Amino acid sequence: MLSAMSDTGPGYPDQSTKRMAARVIGVVCMGIALVLFALAVADMLSAFNSDEFGAQPTRMWMFFAALPFFLVGGIALNAGFMGAGVKYAAGEVAPTARGTLDYLDVGEAGVACPSCGARNEESSAFCDDCGQPLTTLCPSCKHPNATDAKFCAACGTALT
Ligand SMILES: [Zn+2]
Ligand SMILES: [Zn+2]
Repeated sequence: MLSAMSDTGPGYPDQSTKRMAARVIGVVCMGIALVLFALAVADMLSAFNSDEFGAQPTRMWMFFAALPFFLVGGIALNAGFMGAGVKYAAGEVAPTARGTLDYLDVGEAGVACPSCGARNEESSAFCDDCGQPLTTLCPSCKHPNATDAKFCAACGTALT
């Protein structure tokens, strides 16, 4: 699948790469934030449960250290999933859920790939999932038309 993405031709070769990078950064940052949170909470709980008088949690800083990771992770995930946002738990980022996410992440907007059905941005020339062209270039004036168009929208040339 990755090779298909990088073979999308002269159109938007690095668009999906950037999106994938944002997804990876987002997931990694969220993972770090969750680990820091978990450590801080565990430390707090152990301090509260301690018999030792005046025991204080010593890892509160982790709680605050986690916040910027949450922020960065949230922004990156938002960018990576085009507004589907951070409401999706990390588990749903798993490859098995990709089809669902691809459908959800542009919602009603965008253009469906005629080959695999994945939704793509309106401006995309190639499917970011399978690399198939999303437009038919007019042989006469090079205007990009919808793949199911019968005549060029710009000059009327038959596209069949
Ligand atoms: Zn496709
Ligand atoms: Zn034309």
